[in-house]
Amino acid sequence: MAQMCPCHSGKIYQECCAPYHQGEIPPTALLLMRSRYSAYALGNSDYILATTHPEHPDASHPHEMRKEQIQAFSTHTQFTGLDILSTEEEPPYAYVTFRVHLKQEGRDVSFTERSQFGRHHERWLYRQGEIHRE
Ligand SMILES: [Zn+2]
Repeated sequence: MAQMCPCHSGKIYQECCAPYHQGEIPPTALLLMRSRYSAYALGNSDYILATTHPEHPDASHPHEMRKEQIQAFSTHTQFTGLDILSTEEEPPYAYVTFRVHLKQEGRDVSFTERSQFGRHHERWLYRQGEIHRE
């Protein structure tokens, strides 16, 4: 049976984020953002690290530590929804503002983030994010 994409697009995974997880380059910052959300949901820490810009504040932390943190977050979180609120292009950057719906042990830990994406080797990478909790 076809698996629905964990980015909540309503499409099946193979026709949504799977090609990006398998090596295709997402053509827009928005598609990169969605594929990172679904990678978190699937516990694919390698994809998260591979799509993080070398200028991200955490990029200097040890690789193994970041991988463990991502995996622990994925394991303890349910990824129950994703709403895209806006996308903006301000070359050389692109911004996506979104609300992620998350639960940890039954508790709502949803938040809104404005992510900044930058170009690196001809592709978009996640550069940094401003988080708004409410
Ligand atoms: Zn998807």
